[in-house]
Amino acid sequence: ATPMALMIGTGRGAQLGILIKGPEVLETTRRVDTVVLDKTGTVTTGRMALLDVIAADGEDPDEVLRLAGAVEDASEHPIARAIAATAVERFGDLPAVHGFSSLAGLGVRGEVREHGDAREVTVGRPGMIAEAPLADELTEAVRAAGRRGRTAVVVGWNGRPRGVLVVADAVRPTSADAIAQFRALGLTPVLLTGDSAEVAAAVAAEVGIDPERVIAQVLPAGKVDAVRRLQDEGRSVAMVGDGVNDAAALARADLGLAMGTGTDAAIEASDLTLVRGDLRAAADAIRLSRRTLGTIR
Ligand code: ADP
Ligand code: MG
Repeated sequence: ATPMALMIGTGRGAQLGILIKGPEVLETTRRVDTVVLDKTGTVTTGRMALLDVIAADGEDPDEVLRLAGAVEDASEHPIARAIAATAVERFGDLPAVHGFSSLAGLGVRGEVREHGDAREVTVGRPGMIAEAPLADELTEAVRAAGRRGRTAVVVGWNGRPRGVLVVADAVRPTSADAIAQFRALGLTPVLLTGDSAEVAAAVAAEVGIDPERVIAQVLPAGKVDAVRRLQDEGRSVAMVGDGVNDAAALARADLGLAMGTGTDAAIEASDLTLVRGDLRAAADAIRLSRRTLGTIR
C-alpha cells in the first residue's frame, strides 16, 4: 500500500475509535486469523460487585469482609475494588496494612496490625492459601459460585482459610455481537482467563465462544504461553486485553489490542487501542485494514 493509503486508513481508524500506533500495524491486522480475548475487563465490563460473603464455621462474616477489604484497598484489580468499596461502605475506615504484596493472577497479601495483634491476611484464588485445606462449607461456596458463573476468592489469615467472597461482573452488551463479527470475518475466537474453568465456560456460552476454545485458570505467564502455542500451530494471533496481567501476551501476539478502559501497561504493550472499550471496534479495525490494503494493491 502507498504511504498515503496507510495514512488515510490510520485517520479513518481514529474516527472509528481505534488508535493505531503506526501505519505498518494495518498490515499485521489484515493477516490475523485468531482472536484471543481476555475475560475480565475485556469480554466483561470489569466492574465487579460483591454478591456474597460466606464465613467458615466459627468465623464472623463481617470480620472476613473487613480484613479482606483492608488488604484489597491497595490493589487496582477489579475484584479488589469491589471488595474494598463494599468494606469501606459498611465499616468506614479500614485498618492500615503493612507489607502489602500483590501476586499477579493469584491475589494479594498484607499484615493487619490492631490492638497489639498482627494478622497476615491473604485474599485470592482458591488454593492460594495452601497451608490448610478449605472447610467443606467453603468448598461448597466456591463450587456454587462457579456453577452460576461467578468468581469466588478465598480470604484467610495466619495460614487458615476463613471465608469466601463471591464477586461477578456483567458481559459487555456489545461482546456477543463483536464475536459474531469475528466469525463472519473468518477469525477463530478464543477465551483466555485466569479465572476458573466454570466461570470461563459460563461467559463463553453467553457470548458464543466454542467450549473447546476456552483456556482457563492460567497465570499471567501462562497467557504468553497460550498465545505462543497458537502461533506454533501456524496461527496469526490477535490478543485483546485490558490488564497488567495481559501486557506480556499483548506484546507477544502478532497484533496486540488494548481496551481503552484498561491499564496503561496494556495500552503501552499494544499496537491498537479500542478507545471506547467496545470489542466491535476490533472487527472494524480488521475490516478497515482489509479495505485499506486490499483496494490499493
Ligand atoms: P483475568 O484473566 O480474567 O483478567 P486475572 O488473571 O486478573 O483474571 O485473575 C485471575 C484470578 O486471580 C482471579 O479470578 C482471582 O481468583 C485471583 N486474583 C487476582 N487478583 C486478585 C485480587 N486482587 N484479589 C483477589 N483475587 C485475585
Ligand atoms: Mg482482564
